[in-house]
Amino acid sequence: MKISDNFKYKGLRNKLVKELKIKGIKDHNVLSAIKSVPRHFFVDDALLELCYLDKALPIGNKQTISQPYTVAFQSSLLDVKPNDKIMEIGTGSGYQAAILSFMKAQVYTIERNRFLFRKTKKILFNLGYGVLTFYGDGYNGLPKLAPFDKILITAAAPEIPVFLFSQLKIGGILVVPVGGSVNQEMLLIKKLSDKKMDITKHGVFSFVPMLKNKS
Ligand code: SAH
Repeated sequence: MKISDNFKYKGLRNKLVKELKIKGIKDHNVLSAIKSVPRHFFVDDALLELCYLDKALPIGNKQTISQPYTVAFQSSLLDVKPNDKIMEIGTGSGYQAAILSFMKAQVYTIERNRFLFRKTKKILFNLGYGVLTFYGDGYNGLPKLAPFDKILITAAAPEIPVFLFSQLKIGGILVVPVGGSVNQEMLLIKKLSDKKMDITKHGVFSFVPMLKNKS
């Protein structure tokens, strides 16, 4: 098992939280999750020294752990409440899922890449986060476990995934970066009824693509 948490890492997290506040993150629950969840448990040992910089980092298989600002921004848009039932598409390192779980959400997360799925499932389990992990194509969502209060997509979708929208409760929220391979617009989509959505745009980000099928 990996190195433990210590004052050095706690200090680096406090510094990161200050930086995120300056960059405009205001949600106290999100900031306290970033302050508490040890991001260094979710990256390889070779990246330990970099993991409290506000940067995306490689996690293997050409995938990345999102930049802390992006994790904080998406989590803020989700407006997480205790017991919210949240589906995340793109488990990756598991860090975003751990942040949501720390905020007392019930988290269901899907990863299409078998290597990352296996590795991250173990990490989340060993750390005691009660996150439910699924191996599959996130485009299908989790129809048997729907509906969800919120859905978070942490990979770039070419268009709004309507099938996932159908797995939201009325009044629910879908946060998804939509666009091409270089950058995407962050959309916050509220489900007003089965056919009606209210869409707002929240700036440009850069995610790895949301791919079809499992690998
Ligand atoms: N939330 C992650 C960010 C991961 S990057 C974190 O906190 O680290 C995006 C992840 O989405 C990658 O792991 C990639 O394999 C995964 N992904 C891409 N398309 C997917 C799909 N259709 N279904 C599920 N996961 C997908």
